[in-house]
Amino acid sequence: MKVLQKEIPLYLLQLDALHRRLPPSHRAKRIVENDLRNYYAGYKGEQSMEYYLSFLNEEAVIIPGLRLKGKSDFYFQIDRIVITKKYILIFEVKNFSGTVIYDKTHDQFIRDNGEVKEVFTNPILQLGRQASQFKSFLSSNNLPNLPILSYVVFANSNLFITTIPENIKLPPNIIKSENVPFILKNIESKYRTNILSSKELKKMDKLLRKANEPYRAENFLLYYSIDYNDIIKGIICPECLTLPIERAEKKWFCPSCKKTDRSIYRYSLNDYYLIFGIEARNSSIRSFFDIDSPYTIFRILKRYKYIGTSKKNRVYLLEYDHNYCIFEYPSLKKEVGGQT
Ligand SMILES: [Zn+2]
Repeated sequence: MKVLQKEIPLYLLQLDALHRRLPPSHRAKRIVENDLRNYYAGYKGEQSMEYYLSFLNEEAVIIPGLRLKGKSDFYFQIDRIVITKKYILIFEVKNFSGTVIYDKTHDQFIRDNGEVKEVFTNPILQLGRQASQFKSFLSSNNLPNLPILSYVVFANSNLFITTIPENIKLPPNIIKSENVPFILKNIESKYRTNILSSKELKKMDKLLRKANEPYRAENFLLYYSIDYNDIIKGIICPECLTLPIERAEKKWFCPSCKKTDRSIYRYSLNDYYLIFGIEARNSSIRSFFDIDSPYTIFRILKRYKYIGTSKKNRVYLLEYDHNYCIFEYPSLKKEVGGQT
């Protein structure tokens, strides 16, 4: 049950960790499950873009979920950004099902899932803001100015798009994902001059990945009104997800699948990071792992940076380790009746 994937958004991993550490009878369990289902559907929609973007014939850098700090310390996020030597593409991916109505008369977008009709944020205006924020990010980092083209992509092929008044043309930057290859072809034939060198493109990629600050939820427990004591403590088995497993003779041992591994605790340290945040004390990890020995925990935490001088008061700054990632939801969703 090991999923080794770097591109799963942190927020999705957070929901997944919280979900598995809540007892089945907890009143927040279904709410978390519902959020997990919705975010997973969005993530799958964005992922389907990978296939269509593979039609691009240019040397390109593609970054999913790029989140940058803009002016006045406000963050902006771009679902998919494609940077080539000639131009930049920005995609806002919507994974709606049912019907989307483009109301030209009132310049608004309505989504109708068969039960509820609601107006959603005008994605064209949203794109315009993203493009201008990205433009100023480029200039404030002394990066070359490339033409920016932006599109709203509806990822669900069963989505029905209609207009008010009827039968008018959609704005040209509103497309369905299956049209992406045609759009790419069109753009490729229009933009033929290199502005960046391959070296500059690589430099830009490096800089953007460094500046990227993926969204992570703070105060997770507060948000869902979950008490610390409600969270299931202990070390989890990454193979069969038994929780908690035992420690015997300095080794962790799973009673269900018999897995044993010295570094198995790292999966649970990730769970701690996802649920409680980056800061951890020796005592808080002891409590979460359900272990008495401060020395065992000290050996686990000493690899991290810390604040505080005395050993007793140290606050360690955890980091998420993608090599010890558990992402349970995809195998769960049939059981929980998930729709994606
Ligand atoms: Zn196991």
